Amino acid sequence: MKKIFKPKKFIIFGSPLIENDEIKEVVKTLKSSWLGTGPRVAKFEEDFKQYENAKYAMAVNSCTAALHLSILACGIGEGDEVITTPMTFCATVNTIIHAGATPILADINPQTYNIDPDEIRKKITKRTKAIIPVHFAGRACEMDEIISIASKHNLHIIEDCAHAIETEYHKKKAGTFGRFGCFSFYSTKNVVTGEGGMVLAKNSEDASKIKILGLHGMSKDAWKRFGDTGFKHYQVVECGYKYNMMDLQAAIGIHQLKRVDQNWLKREKIWKRYNHALKELPIGLPADIEKNTKHAYHLYTILVDKKKTSISRDDFLDQMTKKGVGVGVHYMSVPEHEYYQRTFGWKPEEYPNAMMVGRQTVSIPISPKLTDMEVEYIIKSIKEIIDNAMVENK
Ligand SMILES: *Cc1c(COP(=O)(O)O)cnc(C)c1O
Repeated sequence: MKKIFKPKKFIIFGSPLIENDEIKEVVKTLKSSWLGTGPRVAKFEEDFKQYENAKYAMAVNSCTAALHLSILACGIGEGDEVITTPMTFCATVNTIIHAGATPILADINPQTYNIDPDEIRKKITKRTKAIIPVHFAGRACEMDEIISIASKHNLHIIEDCAHAIETEYHKKKAGTFGRFGCFSFYSTKNVVTGEGGMVLAKNSEDASKIKILGLHGMSKDAWKRFGDTGFKHYQVVECGYKYNMMDLQAAIGIHQLKRVDQNWLKREKIWKRYNHALKELPIGLPADIEKNTKHAYHLYTILVDKKKTSISRDDFLDQMTKKGVGVGVHYMSVPEHEYYQRTFGWKPEEYPNAMMVGRQTVSIPISPKLTDMEVEYIIKSIKEIIDNAMVENK
């Protein structure tokens, strides 16, 4: 009889693949006594800039910080409106609020889960100052349309590229279309530093605005004030924030980035395997990848609609967990959360596509750390749960 593989350990959702190079570099950093912002951050910025084919790259301690600084650097504040998607992590919306501006949501396309340009058009007012598209799951937004809307109405574009390190649209990297592109190196993302982020900019004024605002508002040279090039006085020129990345974090990122394409290939293989193995099931699968784009394969999401599967999304989540497979929800739509309902009077029903996806979606593991056996076990678990539910309901 064929032995059925069952993993000994719980399959953690979004588990990062950390190798010896990262571990050695962290130890070296600790021994160098330079833990804070220093040479390794500078190298990580340079490497990331090269990888993204960008003009300027500034490391920060999260994508949340990256978004906040980018919004501020655009001069956006009280009385201004910023349009973004309801299908995102709360940080995209919170940073607009942190800057003093008002977030406005534009519903998603129900196939791609990305912000729908036609919905953006409907939400533009005299107060609109910027659009923050999120390349959801690593799928490129319709940048041609978004750029044409932005130029027509004189709006800034700040790209939320938290899922989109490898994403390309018409041969150009995500994060290089907008005035700023914001990336995350949080532990579950495609390149990790534990916590960490990056801002891409197109010109030196914008780059130095980000640097200054990200380190207490101190004049640019302050970044070098602990070096061996002699004491330097600094001036505080803005009321800035404490958002700088540490060398300890960059030590991990430098080696993670070297393996970014290798890990992407591993996830692409898993993606294709899931597409093939799950296509007969009565669940929703990710849309085909648009021509002339590169998907970052950050999340593989399925839709569990009780009307079709006889099991609710939340029961499905529980059963996957019971089988030892970690799952995620990306995301309940932003208006489902109490704070936004209370503060802006948003209702989920006003964004029906995001509401539908948010109530049915399940992210299944797609970490490059997964073995083939684990991938097969995940597939088998999904099939068993759906099959059992269908039989019970007959
Ligand atoms: C993870 C994430 C963020 C926030 O990133 P942090 O680095 O954790 O601050 C922002 N937007 C999206 C879409 C994300 O997935």
